[in-house]
Amino acid sequence: MREGSQESPGEVGARVRRGAAVRGVVQGVGFRPFVFRLAQEEGLAGFIGNDTDGVTIEVEGAAARVEAFLARLREEAPPLARIDSVVVAELEAKGDSGFRIVASEVLGRVHTGIPADAATCVDCQSELLDPEDRRYRYPFLNCTNCGPRYTITRKIPYDRPQTSMARFTMCKKCQAEYDDPGNRRFHAQPNACWECGPWLWLSGPGGTEIAGDEAMESCVSRLAGGAILAIKGIGGFHLAVDATNDVAVMRLRERKQRYGKPFAVMVKDLAAAREICELTAEEEALLLTSARPIVLARKKEGSGIATGVAPGIPWLGVFLPYAPLQHLLFADGRLRALVMTSANLSEEPIAIDNEEARRRLGGIADALVLHDREILQRCDDSVMAVVDGAPQLIRRARGFVPLGVELPEGMDAPHMLAVGGHMKNVLALAEGRKVVQSQHLGDIENLTGLAFFEESLAHLMKTFEMDPEVVVHDLHPGYLSTEWAKKWAGERGLPLVGVQHHNAHVAGCMAEHWLTGEAIGLALDGTGYGSDGKIWGGEVLIVRLDGPNPEKFERFAHLEYVPMAGGDAAVKEPWRMALGALVTAGFAEDSAEVEQLTAGKEREAKVLLRMVERELNSPMTSSLGRLFDAAAAVVLGRRTVDYEAQAAIELEGISLFAEEKSGYAIELEGRNWARREPMLLTTRGMWHELLKDLWAGVGKAQIGARFHAGVAEGFVKAAVAARKATGVGQVAMSGGCLHNRRLARLLKEKLEAEGFRVYLPRKVSPGDGGLSYGQVAVAAARLAGKTAL
Ligand SMILES: [Zn+2]
Ligand SMILES: [Zn+2]
Ligand SMILES: [Zn+2]
Repeated sequence: MREGSQESPGEVGARVRRGAAVRGVVQGVGFRPFVFRLAQEEGLAGFIGNDTDGVTIEVEGAAARVEAFLARLREEAPPLARIDSVVVAELEAKGDSGFRIVASEVLGRVHTGIPADAATCVDCQSELLDPEDRRYRYPFLNCTNCGPRYTITRKIPYDRPQTSMARFTMCKKCQAEYDDPGNRRFHAQPNACWECGPWLWLSGPGGTEIAGDEAMESCVSRLAGGAILAIKGIGGFHLAVDATNDVAVMRLRERKQRYGKPFAVMVKDLAAAREICELTAEEEALLLTSARPIVLARKKEGSGIATGVAPGIPWLGVFLPYAPLQHLLFADGRLRALVMTSANLSEEPIAIDNEEARRRLGGIADALVLHDREILQRCDDSVMAVVDGAPQLIRRARGFVPLGVELPEGMDAPHMLAVGGHMKNVLALAEGRKVVQSQHLGDIENLTGLAFFEESLAHLMKTFEMDPEVVVHDLHPGYLSTEWAKKWAGERGLPLVGVQHHNAHVAGCMAEHWLTGEAIGLALDGTGYGSDGKIWGGEVLIVRLDGPNPEKFERFAHLEYVPMAGGDAAVKEPWRMALGALVTAGFAEDSAEVEQLTAGKEREAKVLLRMVERELNSPMTSSLGRLFDAAAAVVLGRRTVDYEAQAAIELEGISLFAEEKSGYAIELEGRNWARREPMLLTTRGMWHELLKDLWAGVGKAQIGARFHAGVAEGFVKAAVAARKATGVGQVAMSGGCLHNRRLARLLKEKLEAEGFRVYLPRKVSPGDGGLSYGQVAVAAARLAGKTAL
C-alpha cells in the first residue's frame, strides 16, 4: 500500500484514522487551506477545524499516506505558521469520504496564539503593481500569507467578525476567494479590494480632501516637494519626510521637538538599502523577515541621506516597506528614501486614531493620509541589530507581538502579570510555560504612558482570556509601574512579588536560553534599584532559577559607587557624572582635569561638589551606563544629551573604526569577602590612564576603544573570580549596555577565551523592554520553590 496506491472506499480494513492536535500559531496564517490541500494530495478523508487551543485534524486513508501527511504537516507548514507541538492519537476508521473544513469551535478557554502582523508577501506585491490585476494599486491588499493581524484583532478566535474588518462586507469576488480552499485568500480575514474594502484619503490644509488613488499620488508629490506627511500605517501613524532633503528633515526635527535622536529611514527594497548602508548578510536577512524591523546598520558615506537624519553616529536605522500603502510610496521612483518616524512627541505612545492624529499631529504634519480601517492595538516598528553575528531585539513591537518566548522546560508559572519597569516598558502575562509579552509601551512616567499600559493589558487579558492571580513588579518604590501594581493587586486581593531589577535582567537571559543551575550574571545597564537602596547597574551576580531558594541571588561584585551629582539631572547632563567620577578617582577639585571638565560651569560645579560632600541629592550609583556617560563627557566633551544613552552611543560610534588595544585598568578589589560583602571593580587606574592619553593628544577613537576594552576586561576578571568562588562556568549577560555592540562582542570574546559558556539575550531585549520576562522567570522560580512571597 505504498507509493501511488489509490485507496478504494471498499477497503476499510486497510485504512487507518489519526487525530492530530496542533498547537502554536496556526490560526489566521493559512493553515487550514494548507491542510486541506495536503489531505487532497494524499487522497485522505477527514476534517480540520480551529479549536480554542489551535487546530484539530482527523485524517483517514492508507497508512502510508497518513504517515506522509503527518510528516509533511510539519515540513511544509505555511511561512507565518509556528508549530509548537503535534499530538497524534489513533482513532477508529469511520470509512468517510472527502475532506472538510469545519466551523471554528469557540467554546472553552483560549490558548492559541494570534499571529503577528506580517509584511506584504511577494505575490501581493506583484498584484499591487500589475495594471491588469483587479487590485492594482489597492493600498490594503493582503492574503493568508501576509497582512495585518494583531493590530486589527479584538478577540480570539481570529475570525473576520472579531477584527476591525467586521464593518466591511466582502464583494462577490472577494467572498468567492475567501470561500475557495484552493485560493491564496481562503479565509484571509482582512481580504478586501477597491470595491468592498477600506478606503484611503488625504486630508490637506484648510480641510481639503482627496480620496482613493489620487490621494496616494498627491501624497508622493507632496513628499517629493519636501512636505511633512502623517501617514496611517499598520500599528499607528508615521511622520514621513524626504530623507535626502536636509531642510525638510530639519523642519521635522523642529516641529517634533526632537533634536538629536536618530530617525529611521525606509527605502524601496534591499538594493536601495545597500545604497545607503553597509549591510552584512545577517542584516540583509533581518531586513527581509516578515516582521520587517528597523535594522541598525553602518551608514554609507556620500549616500545622499541628510546629515540631520542620524547626527553624530555612524549607524542608520533602515527598514523596508511592509504595507501595500508603503510600497506605493516608492512605486514610481520619485522618492528614494523616507524618514518614517513614529508619530508622537518624545516618548508618548504612537497615535492610531484619525481624530487623535488630527489633534496631535495637526501642528507637525502639512497633510495627513488617513484610512477607515481601524487600528485596534497601537504598535511601533520593532528595532533590531546584529550583535556578535546574531540578531538582537532592541524594541519589541510590530511583527513580534503577541508571539511569546516560552519559559524553560519544567517551569510552571501560575497566571501572572509582570509589570516591567519604568523606561521603554513591556508588560508580560504568563501561564504555565507560556509568556505573552506586550508591544513596546514607552516610558511609564505619566498618565499617558500609564493609559497605554492599561489599554495593552486589557487587550491582552481579553484576547488570551488570561486572568492574573499574582502580580510581579520592580522593587523601585518610585516607579509608577510599582505603585500601579500595588494598587491593582490590592483591589483584587492578589499576592505581590517584588523582583530586584538586575536579578530580573539576568534571569530573563537564563530563561530564554533554558539555563539550569546557577549562572554568573553580568547585569550591565543604566539604572536599577538595588537591594541596598542604591542605584545599581554594573553588577556581577550569581543567579539561579531552580533548586532551593531560587530567590536568593548573590551580589558577587560591582562597579564602585560614584555620586550622581544633583540626582537624576546627572543622566541628562553627563558632565555631572564625570565630575563625581573624577573626584572619586582622586582628582582634586582644582586639578587641571577637573577644571577642564567644568570650564564655564565653575560655580555650578562648586555647588555640586558641596552637595556631594554633604551627601545631599547625590545618590550613589554602580551603573555602567553612567560610567559610559562620564567617559563620553570627558572624551567627547558632551555636556548634555538630547535622548537617553546618547553620550554612550556616541562613544561607541567614535570607537567603531579603531583597532583593538589593551584596555584601561579597571581593577578587581576584594573587600571583606569573608563577610560576604561584594568585591569592587575600581576605576581610579582607568581614569588616570584615560586622561593621560587625552592630554597627550591620543586619538579619540583609540581612547574610546581602550575604554571599551578596559570595561570588558574588568568584568571578565570579576567573572573569573566568581567562577573560582562558586565553580559556575556559564555567564548570562543582560542590561541595556549590551545594546553596545563593541562591548557585547568584547565581553563574549574575552569570556569565551577564559573558557566560559556565554549567553546574550536574543529573543528578549537586553534593555528594560526585557525586564518583565525576567520578572516572570524569577517569580515562577520562587513560587515553585514554595518559599514565602
Ligand atoms: Zn499576500
Ligand atoms: Zn472585494
Ligand atoms: Zn535595566
